[in-house]
Amino acid sequence: IKIKITNIDIPVAFASAFEGEIIRRGDMQVEFDGSRVDCCELVMTKDASEIEDHKITLVGPDIDEMPVGSKQSICYVVEVAGKSMQSDFEPVFERKFHSYLNCVEGMMHTGQRDMIRIRVSKETFEAGFRAKHIGEVLYAKVKSEFAAVVDKCQVTIYTDSAECTRVRHEVAMPLFDKRDERLNTLTDEGVDVYYSCIMCQAFSPSHVCVVTPERLGLCGAVSWLDAKATNELDPQGPCQVITKERPIDERIGEYEDVNEAVQKFSQGALEDVSLYSIIEKPMTSCGCFECICGIEPLSNGVCIANREYAGMTPIGMTFSELASMTGGGVQTPGFMGHGKHFIASKKFMKAEGGVARIVWMPKELKEQVAERLNATAKELYGIDNFCDMIADETIAEDPETLLAYLEEKGHPALTMEPMM
Ligand code: SF4
Ligand code: ZN
Repeated sequence: IKIKITNIDIPVAFASAFEGEIIRRGDMQVEFDGSRVDCCELVMTKDASEIEDHKITLVGPDIDEMPVGSKQSICYVVEVAGKSMQSDFEPVFERKFHSYLNCVEGMMHTGQRDMIRIRVSKETFEAGFRAKHIGEVLYAKVKSEFAAVVDKCQVTIYTDSAECTRVRHEVAMPLFDKRDERLNTLTDEGVDVYYSCIMCQAFSPSHVCVVTPERLGLCGAVSWLDAKATNELDPQGPCQVITKERPIDERIGEYEDVNEAVQKFSQGALEDVSLYSIIEKPMTSCGCFECICGIEPLSNGVCIANREYAGMTPIGMTFSELASMTGGGVQTPGFMGHGKHFIASKKFMKAEGGVARIVWMPKELKEQVAERLNATAKELYGIDNFCDMIADETIAEDPETLLAYLEEKGHPALTMEPMM
């Protein structure tokens, strides 16, 4: 019998009520900022003999040795061991750190992997909160929430800047790359099952994501491997196995078994969904899509806007205007919420001709996906440097200017079958 840990040994309160807490610059004792200095959060599976349970180690200065209001590096490595532990579970644990650390009174956490940002408030510092308490929180939560697979857990917190550089670049990034590569080698055809995810039904009651190797959840945070791990960790939980044995239409990616699952998990609100079409039976969207793509009729293609982009799109709507008509767990043909990673997928709008339909994206998003998207376009259509044909806000914010640019570049969408 495993005992669940409920008390967390920290000098401030721990409750979900603190999750949305904002800590302003003037109120913060210290900030750890992965966009400026080397930071990371990481779970690693070890052999039980390598781990001393509940050992918490600090390598580097503690918070009271850091100048007030300064930007510092931090890396915390949570090492776990257990007979049923699998390395595929590591990212699932890591994703929970955001919520764990936000539950600490006077602590704010955003991001993941090596792009984290953490603020500790002056009040929380004055109450006695120090670096080791981050370890206490992670230890207690990982041990209690993942008791089925974690027998032993130890946490090392690095604040020494040279050590953070080493841990981020030599330990964390190679591991993140390895995980991404593993996912990149999987295809929808190469697996026997997909997974449903209903984590968003709390605020979007009929929404179901169907997660496949080539189409991650629209929040961008649930890959097929993550959904699989979530299912193994909690078989009655939010991610369920969906078989794909009875195809109806391979072109749009429609399956009888997927439809049945979607009907069941949406309590009958949804009849049928396709995996690869934005027009025919598109998947629903909740509210947490990283991006929205929508048809731009004049150019016979689609524009994509990401959440961070505040400007106008050639569709005549901003991201939030697009979001207001795409969310809510209903099917909206012509508009679709999706993850950033999906943009370079060979399954992106496959039914409508694939990524060649993309005519516009904000510049920053284009830069983020360029390498993978260019590779996909080269493979599918033999086009070199496809991203150069895609317009952005510095080129066009209206349909006419957009069309002129696409004509100048010879964009493939112009000669594809009409979308509508
Ligand atoms: Fe799950 Fe993400 Fe889809 Fe929400 S958006 S249901 S968390 S995969
Ligand atoms: Zn959601």
